Amino acid sequence: MTKIDYSCKNDTCGVTLKLDVDQLEKANYLFKCPKCKVRQKIKKEDLQMNQKEHPPGWLMIHDENVEDQVYTLIKGDNVFGRKPGTGPGCHTIDATDTYLSRKHCGIQVVENKVGKLQYLMQDLKSTNGTFLNAEPRKYNHKDIIYLRDNDLIQMGRTKFIFIKYEDGRTAKSVFDELAQTSFRNTVLT
Ligand SMILES: [Zn+2]
Repeated sequence: MTKIDYSCKNDTCGVTLKLDVDQLEKANYLFKCPKCKVRQKIKKEDLQMNQKEHPPGWLMIHDENVEDQVYTLIKGDNVFGRKPGTGPGCHTIDATDTYLSRKHCGIQVVENKVGKLQYLMQDLKSTNGTFLNAEPRKYNHKDIIYLRDNDLIQMGRTKFIFIKYEDGRTAKSVFDELAQTSFRNTVLT
């Protein structure tokens, strides 16, 4: 029996409960909150997120045009842009960068056959493309890139450093370390 923490999706309730995954599977992930009685469908991805103690990685902005920022990746689909939508995995970039598209770039975090996390980057048909490691090559939606730790992703003119999770790394530790480093080169679009 696998028990997981789950927070009721009803905003006025929000009670945290221990749910039995086996029972949920039988009920096809339909669940009725015992406190507020609201019926809700639980997504398998939500459970994975709840079960994980740490995020799979981060994207951090550290450049000359905007304050340092941290975006925490989730397992599954992550979308970055000016207006990427709402919900888990949608990251609204806080920058006055007119070269950014509404949905600019995606990062999919998947587990491979041996349980290792892989990070796949794909431009989402952005107007100005996505760049990697300050190289002039412009990536479009047909390119799928396997990200490596410390890769520099440029969306529009905003630069992000990809940091994958490793033991002992926290958003704060990575952020503090990054703040000490010098800015990396921008590809002019
Ligand atoms: Zn409830």
